[in-house]
Amino acid sequence: MSADKSQGLSTRAIHAGQAPEAVTGAVMTPVFQTSTYAQPHPGAWAWEYSRTHNPTRTALQDCIAALEGGTRGLSFSSGLAAIDTLLRTLSPGDRVICGDDVYGGTYRLFTKVCARFGVHFDFVDLSRPEVVIPAGTKLVWCESPTNPLLKTTDLAAVAAKARAAGAMLVVDNTFATPIYQRPLELGATAVVHSTTKYLNGHSDVVGGVIVTSDDALAEQLAFLQNAVGAVPGPWDCFLTLRGLKTLAVRMQRHTDNATAIAAWLSARPDVAKVRFPGFSGMVSFDLRGDLDAAVRFVKATRIFTLAESLGGVESLIELPAIMTHASVPPEIRAELGIADGLIRLSCGIEDLADLKADLERAFAAALG
Ligand SMILES: *Cc1c(COP(=O)(O)O)cnc(C)c1O
Repeated sequence: MSADKSQGLSTRAIHAGQAPEAVTGAVMTPVFQTSTYAQPHPGAWAWEYSRTHNPTRTALQDCIAALEGGTRGLSFSSGLAAIDTLLRTLSPGDRVICGDDVYGGTYRLFTKVCARFGVHFDFVDLSRPEVVIPAGTKLVWCESPTNPLLKTTDLAAVAAKARAAGAMLVVDNTFATPIYQRPLELGATAVVHSTTKYLNGHSDVVGGVIVTSDDALAEQLAFLQNAVGAVPGPWDCFLTLRGLKTLAVRMQRHTDNATAIAAWLSARPDVAKVRFPGFSGMVSFDLRGDLDAAVRFVKATRIFTLAESLGGVESLIELPAIMTHASVPPEIRAELGIADGLIRLSCGIEDLADLKADLERAFAAALG
C-alpha cells in the first residue's frame, strides 16, 4: 500500500499498511509467526521465506513509509542494522560527510567497522549554515536534532548542497519523528530510524527502518536486506505496529512535558545551559558542579530511570559522558561540548508535576 498523502499522520499511523486481514477480516495485523510458506508449484509463490518477506513486517514497513511520505520502507532488527545496511551500498574509496555529534553507536560503526572496508569519513558540524559538502562526496549523514546536544540543521539547505556535490543525503530522524520532521519532503534521499525509540515508544523492542522514494536505492536496499539478513521477527514488527498507532498523541505529550521542563530548568541558578529544540521529548542541560554532583543527580531520581535509550512513555535520565557517548574519545567529547556535567533527559508522558518533583529531589541530592 502506498502512502495516501491526503491523510493526516494520526490516520496513517493507525491505518497505513494495515487493512483488515484478507482471510478472517481481523482488524489487527496478525503475527505471521512462520519462517516459510507452502508453494502451490515448485518456485511459484506469493510468499517464499521470512528473511525475504513476512506479512507482519510488510505492514510495518508500509506504515512507516507512509508516515515519512516515502514509497518504500525496509525494517531491520535494530537501528544500527538499518544504518549498516545503508552503508553497504557504498564501495571502498567512497567518501562520507557525517555530522560531528551523531549517536555514539553510529560513530563507532562508521569509525571502527565501515572505515576498515575503505570508506572515508569526515565529521563536520552540519548545523553550521556555512558548511561545505565537497564535490565527489557519496553520502552525507545527518542527525537533526543531534544527540546529546540537540543542535538542529537546515535539512533543505544541506540536501541542496549534497545534491550539488553528487551525494545522497540520509537523515537519522529518530529524535524528531515524522510527526515533527519529514526529511524526504525537504530533499533527503533516505530516512533512517531507530524504531526502538519514539516510533515503538514502549521500550520493549529493538528495531530499525529505512524509508526512501528512490526506486533504484530501494531495490538495492531490498536486495541487501535479504542478502545480509538483519531482519526483525514478526512479533517485534507486531509490537512496533501497535506502538505506532499512538505516535501522534504520544509525541504531543512528550513535547508538552519537555517544553515545560526545559523552561523550568532554564530558570534555575544551578543549571548552566539548557538545550531543547522546541519539539519532541529530549532535553539536555549542564548542571553547575563536577562529575560527582552529576552522578549524585542521576542516581537520586525515582521516576526518571537511570538508563540508556530514549523515546519511551517512561522518563529516562543519563550521563552521556560515561554512558551513551563513552565510546566517543574524551578529546572529541570536549571539542563538541559534551561536558562531564551534561545530563540528558528523555521526558516521558507521566504527569508533569511528578516529573518536576522528581528533578527537584535530584537537585537537592546533588547540590544541597
Ligand atoms: C538508538 C539510536 C540509534 C541506534 O539504534 P538501535 O536500535 O539501538 O540499534 C541510531 N540513531 C539514533 C539517533 C539513536 O538514538
